[in-house]
Amino acid sequence: FSRLKESLTKTRKNFVEKIETLVTRRRAIDEGFYEELEEILIGADIGINTAVEIVENLRAEVKKRKIDDVETLKEVLKELICNILGEGGASTALNINEDGLTVILVVGVNGVGKTTTIGKLAYYFKEELGKKVLLAAGDTFRAAAIDQLEIWSNRVGVEMIKHKEGADPAAVAYDAIQAARARRSDVLIVDTAGRLHTKSNLMDELKKIKRVINKDMPEAPQEILLVLDATTGQNAVSQAKLFGEAADVTGIALTKLDGTAKGGVVISIKNALKIPVKLIGIGEGIEDLRPFEPEVFAEALFP
Ligand code: GDP
Repeated sequence: FSRLKESLTKTRKNFVEKIETLVTRRRAIDEGFYEELEEILIGADIGINTAVEIVENLRAEVKKRKIDDVETLKEVLKELICNILGEGGASTALNINEDGLTVILVVGVNGVGKTTTIGKLAYYFKEELGKKVLLAAGDTFRAAAIDQLEIWSNRVGVEMIKHKEGADPAAVAYDAIQAARARRSDVLIVDTAGRLHTKSNLMDELKKIKRVINKDMPEAPQEILLVLDATTGQNAVSQAKLFGEAADVTGIALTKLDGTAKGGVVISIKNALKIPVKLIGIGEGIEDLRPFEPEVFAEALFP
């Protein structure tokens, strides 16, 4: 927890501390207060719509509960944000097939931390959950992507299926499924090329991979994880929208939450897209991937 809290330091400074300053400076809950609060929320990459919604709900609560002191107001604000993060109690846990193979397809544009996330995830499954993991180098578009993933597979100590650069990603997925079956793997993590130059292109490629996987496993993939970079703020939200339209994304892995002040983007993604954030990256190390737990996150944000 302290590691998570530490990684959110910049976000907390940019967001919670600004709210605290506002609360102490403006003693009255007036129009000016709400305006400034909205600005802080937007500045914290929560997204304009979500910021407006939070302020509106706050107004309503203040009226309903006849709140006139800023301390209570701060508590209500924390509650509202916690509610958004945990909304609907939608599960943020990874969907894992307990008595058979689990296939996880990983999508996202280059540079967001896709390879690193796959490596950390493989480590998490292997070391924390004691699973047998296989990787598939499905990003055949760049030779570097295959090499990078191989470095991670060696580091974690899991096997990897690869073809040559330029090979058909669906063929890699097919071989990987066969290999996972033959080796009795628990989890197969399939990397994909995150080219977004056209949506239909991406859609076709992912569909083909899915079709191949479904030949053997109609219920797979159990997860299609989209990797997003928190440091890109609202850009991450736009990417999520595009990918969400091109693939049935089941969860988001949000990377680089450490060292960014834009951690509010978690709230934005949660509220705008209704796709649950399932994993968060809080550093470059092999252990720096965490399951996303809304309450724990909110607690780290508002200590
Ligand atoms: P890819 O092109 O999407 O596969 O991106 P990479 O996995 O190669 O990562 C790009 C850079 O982001 C690398 O330098 C990683 O170490 C770094 N990175 C990935 N995840 C995190 C994270 O959670 N925190 C930090 N600080 N850096 C990260």
